[in-house]
Amino acid sequence: MVDGKTRILGVIGDPIEHTFSPAMQNAGLDALNLNYIYLPFHVKPNGLKECIEGAKAMGIQGLNVTIPHKTNVMKHLDEIDSVASMIGAVNTIQFIYDEYNESSNQDNETNVRTKGFNTDGYGCVRAIEEKTSINNKKVTVTGAGGAARAVAFQIASSGIGELSILNRNFAKAESLASDLESNLSKAGIDITINSYEMDYLKRELDSSDIFIDTTPIGMYPNVNDKPIASADMLHEGLVVNDIVYTPMETSLIKEAKKANAQVVYGYEMLLYQGIRSFEIWLGRDAPADVMEKALLDVLGI
Ligand code: NAP
Repeated sequence: MVDGKTRILGVIGDPIEHTFSPAMQNAGLDALNLNYIYLPFHVKPNGLKECIEGAKAMGIQGLNVTIPHKTNVMKHLDEIDSVASMIGAVNTIQFIYDEYNESSNQDNETNVRTKGFNTDGYGCVRAIEEKTSINNKKVTVTGAGGAARAVAFQIASSGIGELSILNRNFAKAESLASDLESNLSKAGIDITINSYEMDYLKRELDSSDIFIDTTPIGMYPNVNDKPIASADMLHEGLVVNDIVYTPMETSLIKEAKKANAQVVYGYEMLLYQGIRSFEIWLGRDAPADVMEKALLDVLGI
């Protein structure tokens, strides 16, 4: 029940109606009996600065950030976590209130610091690690857009051996690889890039342990799209992660099952990015099972 002590978390985006996060986050908060509520906020791009200022003034404890604000919100925050800074996008804001700080001004104004994180890539890596270790593995990623960037930076920082990126627009793959190389030169990972062509993809997949498709191919309503890879391009033992989560059984996931590959569903990335946000805000483990059930319910799975 909401009362005078209820604390507020939420998600900002434009549009926001489609968000699945409130169902998942509120289920987690309720399961732990925390007096918090998680709400959707429709914020237009020209209201972003005021939104962050207003959230501070209202004592909001944490926000998720979705399209189109993930990059533009960064300039309104006090601090950016190193991974989010490399990715160039934030999907989680922590509001740190320091009401008793001696440096507060004499009007008893509350000091507030905001820190931005990106939990999208973490969500993908953790979903895969629930099935297999990524240590020293070869990972192939298709796509070089916003999601690919989050996934590539996180996975390249997590102990893999080799990363292969294929994209339709080759220049975008080049730019992502160059950003990875300049930021993660100490990680010692072999990075190769190719344009998105079937024979290149097949060759890369043959020698890969993990395949992550970050393109929107097969996403509702285009559920009958030709999959990015057919069963004959996949192999038993390969871990195949399609990050599209509507539908759950995408055309690629179906092909992966035909090839006896191990599958990681797109909703699992969504789940673990939310779990990481919860952990950042609340400073404690999230109830993963409860949040997964709520997410599957709201996705109609
Ligand atoms: P984006 O920035 O628009 O990037 C899309 C990428 O896919 C681009 O590299 C694009 O290639 C490529 N692409 C698009 N259509 C293609 C096609 N028909 N054939 C080959 N390549 C194609 O989008 P995004 O933000 O990265 O999101 C991508 C997908 O990830 C969406 O379906 C989104 O819902 C999903 N997603 C899932 C999660 C999760 O938690 N599971 C989180 C974030 C995003 P070009 O560069 O050549 O245009």
